[in-house]
Amino acid sequence: ALTALLVASLTACGQEARGGSRYKPETGKGGTIGLAMPTKASERWIADGQNMAKQFQKAGYQTDLQYGDNKAENQIAQIENMITKGRKLLVIAAVDGSALTEVLQRAHDAGIPVISYDRLILGSPYVDYYASFDNARVGELQGKYLVEKLKLGEPSKNGAKHSIELFAGSPDDNNTKYFWGGAMKALQPYLASGQLVVRSGQTKMNQATTLGWDGGTAQKRMDDLISKNYGEQRVDAVLSPYDGISIGIISALKSAGYGSKAQPLPVITGQDAELASVKSVIGGEQTQTVFKDTRKLAAQAVAMGDAVLNGKKPQVNNTTDYNNGKKTVPSYLLKPVSIDKSNTQLLVDEGYFTAGQLK
Ligand code: BGC
Repeated sequence: ALTALLVASLTACGQEARGGSRYKPETGKGGTIGLAMPTKASERWIADGQNMAKQFQKAGYQTDLQYGDNKAENQIAQIENMITKGRKLLVIAAVDGSALTEVLQRAHDAGIPVISYDRLILGSPYVDYYASFDNARVGELQGKYLVEKLKLGEPSKNGAKHSIELFAGSPDDNNTKYFWGGAMKALQPYLASGQLVVRSGQTKMNQATTLGWDGGTAQKRMDDLISKNYGEQRVDAVLSPYDGISIGIISALKSAGYGSKAQPLPVITGQDAELASVKSVIGGEQTQTVFKDTRKLAAQAVAMGDAVLNGKKPQVNNTTDYNNGKKTVPSYLLKPVSIDKSNTQLLVDEGYFTAGQLK
């Protein structure tokens, strides 16, 4: 009886990790949720972390919110610490989707369930659920927007030619290939017909990636693309997967003389509807962004986590598209929305920004 009592109390402290049999989180409220977010360098992740912390607290949990400063090793150390501290559940937006195999093994050994947040964690069978947006659709919204804005019409060998340059996200983020794939689905027929021309010739994803989603890196690449390929010629469009990257691209374009009546900026996409970029859209610099309501994503992750901790099945709406190399992770995917000058009011109507913020 004494041994049983001892085991039970150790189990309750979450200290049984090394002991063998799986620690089952007690059901009911209370306990601390580990929230591992990638970086504070972008508004969206600050909002994601805060929204989840608020909503988990409302549901009766405490929260341990950590940011990895975009470094995989920092994030791994933070997650290890969460495991040591006996967090009941981990919600992780990975810096490097392929770097968490070992630490998730440890989470599993300690009986801690894992929700992959926004970015799918790869190479581990211990990812219980995935909450994200329809990432292929994000890319498709960007690609289709470019096609419409350039008035390309039906793919045709006789259509007018437009120049475009292509940017992709960070190569260590699983979303990158979905964004790229979705955009290319829309653009490929026009690249094939010759209506879209990539003067740099950099048409492969691995030639277009931007490590760490870094705006400065994108700016340097754009400087280079312009100086090497656009002497007399104009660049008419740029596929950009993220607002922070778009800011870098726009800086490079302005340094090269774009942004006047005589030499307008190209059509340029983005993602996240970050405040500075929505203002840039209103001001006529960035042309489009993709709005993903981080409050809704947070709510979804919280509902999933709460269900898992109470032995219930979380709601999912996709059980086919997200295989991480070890399993197809049951997913809930939210819908992204394209935003340009014509519909920024939606962000105010949805309460994402106040009218004052957008002035
Ligand atoms: C997210 C995007 C974000 C990007 C850079 C991606 O994983 O899905 O919303 O723009 O990371 O932070």
